[in-house]
Amino acid sequence: MNLHEYQGKQILNSFGVEIQRGIVATTPEEAVAAAKKLTEDTGTGWHVLKAQVHAGGRGKGGGVKLAKSLDDVKRIAGEIIGMDLVTPQTSAEGKRVHQILVTEDVYYPGDSEPEEYYMSVLLNRSTGRNMIMYSTEGGMDIEQVAEETPHLIFHEEIDPATGLLPFQARKVAFNLGLSGKAMKQMTKFVSALVTAYEKSDSALFEINPVLKTSDDKIIAVDAKVSLDANALYRHKDYMEMRDKREENPVEVEAGEVGLNYVDLDGNVGCMVNGAGLAMATMDLIKQSGGEPANFLDVGGTADAERVEAAFKLILKDPSVKAILVNIFGGIVRCDRVAAGIIEAYKNMGNIEVPIIVRLQGTNADIAKKLIDDSGLDVQSAVEFQEAADKVQAVLA
Ligand code: GDP
Ligand code: MN
Repeated sequence: MNLHEYQGKQILNSFGVEIQRGIVATTPEEAVAAAKKLTEDTGTGWHVLKAQVHAGGRGKGGGVKLAKSLDDVKRIAGEIIGMDLVTPQTSAEGKRVHQILVTEDVYYPGDSEPEEYYMSVLLNRSTGRNMIMYSTEGGMDIEQVAEETPHLIFHEEIDPATGLLPFQARKVAFNLGLSGKAMKQMTKFVSALVTAYEKSDSALFEINPVLKTSDDKIIAVDAKVSLDANALYRHKDYMEMRDKREENPVEVEAGEVGLNYVDLDGNVGCMVNGAGLAMATMDLIKQSGGEPANFLDVGGTADAERVEAAFKLILKDPSVKAILVNIFGGIVRCDRVAAGIIEAYKNMGNIEVPIIVRLQGTNADIAKKLIDDSGLDVQSAVEFQEAADKVQAVLA
């Protein structure tokens, strides 16, 4: 589950990670009040206004702006709140900004220049260990750094038996070229960050940039935090951070009826039971020249109600031109699934998209007969390839 920057920073801060301080606002008036409060608390003269949407690259899209007066705060807040922010990570329509984070300015001049670093904590799937990935090249596109100057990206793996060892945190600070007070601050920052990652059951932390201020403080200026949804039951307070406005509405609806649905770009709707079969089905559609419109796992109980809910979800996507139902009847018998499909089809009235049904497993023959005799515009198939070919035939 992805979080907004302000929520991610809240979690970081609760584990002692230093952050650029800020207050959320939903109107220009609230933004001005937030700015005044931040000046009182931190002494900051300037403020930064940051759009809160689930997408990176906000700065490039005009979603992060510096305000040098309260008049600026009011005007810029008015511009950002309500805008459809387009960044390299959003669609062309962009993302509607409902709230902004008003922060202290941390790029103030001082004894040295502020420096930006990149740091993330994530699972290295090939070793099964968490690792810190970091670079001196912060503040910019890390994908570009990885492509052009890969030697400037460092990794530090964490042994699950010992956790992060003190020398490892020092090594990170050293590789970033730090010394003296900044080195000590970075060492603290890194160990607090790893603790926060582990304790919050996160799947990804990406802090870009981590800033060394001109007076050698190390702070998180940005925070991309993705929580492991499977561990959310252990964090009731994080569960409340979910912002459904940032998610695909059809996927949210699917979640509410207990279906596993992921929206894709193709034109063949898929209704499958079991994630493995769903993936195999998508592969087969692609191999036969089609493009899956979605991933949909209806789970173990493919009864009429679930099948109907699944049909409705698939048909919400106007690009769907055919539906392939591919269900293995192991625990649930195929004839029951077939009856469910027929009932759902009748309940829904006019489905204009052709449907191809492949049922394999217990009572598959009875199921095929039920479909064939139903008089509905539903074609049955026995073999996997046959099903995919029939889909291609109706698309042609
Ligand atoms: P992103 O563009 O979505 O990654 O948003 P960030 O939170 O990383 O902010 C984008 C950029 O805004 C940073 O890389 C900084 O250059 C700039 N920025 C962020 N905070 C401050 C600040 O306090 N003062 C100034 N002057 N610039 C800031
Ligand atoms: Mn950033």
